[in-house]
Amino acid sequence: MHIPQTILIVEDEQAIADSIAYALRTEGFTPLHVTLGEQALAAMRAAPPPLLAVLDIGLPDMSGLEVCRRLRRFSDAPVMFLTARSDEIDRVVGLEIGADDYVTKPFSPRELVARIRVILRRMTPPAPRPAAVAAFEVRPLEARILFRGQPLDLTRYEYLLLKTLLEHPAHVLSRAQLMDRVWTDAPETLERTVDAHVKSLRAKLRLVDAGADPILTHRGMGYSLAL
Ligand code: CA
Repeated sequence: MHIPQTILIVEDEQAIADSIAYALRTEGFTPLHVTLGEQALAAMRAAPPPLLAVLDIGLPDMSGLEVCRRLRRFSDAPVMFLTARSDEIDRVVGLEIGADDYVTKPFSPRELVARIRVILRRMTPPAPRPAAVAAFEVRPLEARILFRGQPLDLTRYEYLLLKTLLEHPAHVLSRAQLMDRVWTDAPETLERTVDAHVKSLRAKLRLVDAGADPILTHRGMGYSLAL
């Protein structure tokens, strides 16, 4: 499932906003552009909020510094400032308002996006793989999953089902959620179809390790992959 990586652009100069949006799209991000500080704060209250805000300091309704100050009351999202003048840089650096970085106009949008990537990478350290998940190796290009080093002989739906569970370790996924994610091309799938595939999947895992049962049943709720 593709989750949009939304970046908020708060900039009242359309040409600058357009060039940033273009560079972001080229790099696979989803730009969201607003021109006012109030709109920026509203956008950052969305669920889920944008990953990061690119914030111009000179905005029509309030200073970008003030936007950041207000943002910090409810969000830790990183902020990249756009500044036009050196005295603005002094204020960004001097006041500890929680900016992550800044660029001075004129700037290269590609350079800006590269720096955004650095900030986002810093934010999301790779999660350690839980032991049960580490027993599996997903090879998406081959549409194959290995369990304890052994390739599993899975049908397409069994493969997608296991892959989905592996992507959400310890999350209970309801039968309806699994149907939405796995049986995307078969909307009339019944809940008992999910159960039947879990059963056959468990049997195939036991062929590799007779004592293995990493798929947990949560009565009346759904399934999860054990940690
Ligand atoms: Ca401006």
